[in-house]
Amino acid sequence: MVSFSCLILCKEEDMEMKSESVVRNIDSVGRIVLPRDIRERLHLNMENSAVEIYTEEDKIILKKYVPGCMFCQNTDGVVEYKGAHICKKCLVMMLGRVNA
Ligand SMILES: [Zn+2]
Repeated sequence: MVSFSCLILCKEEDMEMKSESVVRNIDSVGRIVLPRDIRERLHLNMENSAVEIYTEEDKIILKKYVPGCMFCQNTDGVVEYKGAHICKKCLVMMLGRVNA
């Protein structure tokens, strides 16, 4: 029997962390199902939505995965183009070089 003491999901852009008490069983290969309402609230209901998983002391943290800019790792205003993630600041800098 695997047990966990806390499950916290947080949205990258929310500085305020919201936690809920949700108990789910972990199957024999380590999978759990995230409750539908949480997936919908955090917009994790699209195919290939991803979460980061890490631990803090005895907690397992699931965090909505937001890819960072491939150049500066910034996660604000990132746009995806042909599989690459670039922030608006870097895009503006690149356009400045193209138009110079
Ligand atoms: Zn950038």
